[in-house]
Amino acid sequence: MNKGVPVIHNQSQIQVAARRLPQTTPTEVYCDFDGTITTLDATDAVLEAFALPAWRDWEARWVSGEITSQECLARQIELIQADRDTLIEFAANLPIDEGFLTLTQRCAEQEVPFTIVSDGIDLLVEAVLRRHGLLHLSVFSNHLRWNDDGRPTLSFPFAEKTCESGAGTCKCTLTRPTDPRSARPVYIGDGRSDQCVSGKMQTVFAKGSLKVWCERTGIPCIPFNTLAEVAERLFPQEARIA
Ligand SMILES: [Mg+2]
Ligand SMILES: [Zn+2]
Repeated sequence: MNKGVPVIHNQSQIQVAARRLPQTTPTEVYCDFDGTITTLDATDAVLEAFALPAWRDWEARWVSGEITSQECLARQIELIQADRDTLIEFAANLPIDEGFLTLTQRCAEQEVPFTIVSDGIDLLVEAVLRRHGLLHLSVFSNHLRWNDDGRPTLSFPFAEKTCESGAGTCKCTLTRPTDPRSARPVYIGDGRSDQCVSGKMQTVFAKGSLKVWCERTGIPCIPFNTLAEVAERLFPQEARIA
């Protein structure tokens, strides 16, 4: 008998074999939000639509390295001139990469946890998930609330002072595996807040400025354009048993 090929006797064994194969099936999938799940950067879209023009000055100070991205976002949020319901409605109507639905469905079928890690705004992420019936997904993001005086303010429950990223949400800490020997984590992202995590992940799918950065710094990545492509790479149709 060929020891390398499992002999399959019945339907339940077929399903066990399917779950174990291919060996590259991830143990967990982490995904950026702005520009990766939404086709536009939802945070930037909200600032452009609702913030006083000075938000661009803070952006310039961050780009020049004068302030951290965490401080930049905190100052920009304070310039938003809109209430909660307005922002929720705006975000719910933002276009998404339709492959997001396929990818999360295939993760669920294969019992692979799918987690959104975003250095954006939790309210916007939740609005998009609610619209698409995906509120059960795990989300780690910066927290938007309105003060007693009616001003929007952002807090950073997942910041990490030791992280070089200066981000409000440190993705490299959130995605650290409890058992690195058996973990096969996958990361999907497109921008600057994805840099600190990308050097620490076994598999990185990258587009946009993250792809450019990975190529420049020598971090291996799989380029992608749509999340449907990512779904097909992670969970190939021919390896699945209907
Ligand atoms: Mg992004
Ligand atoms: Zn980090």
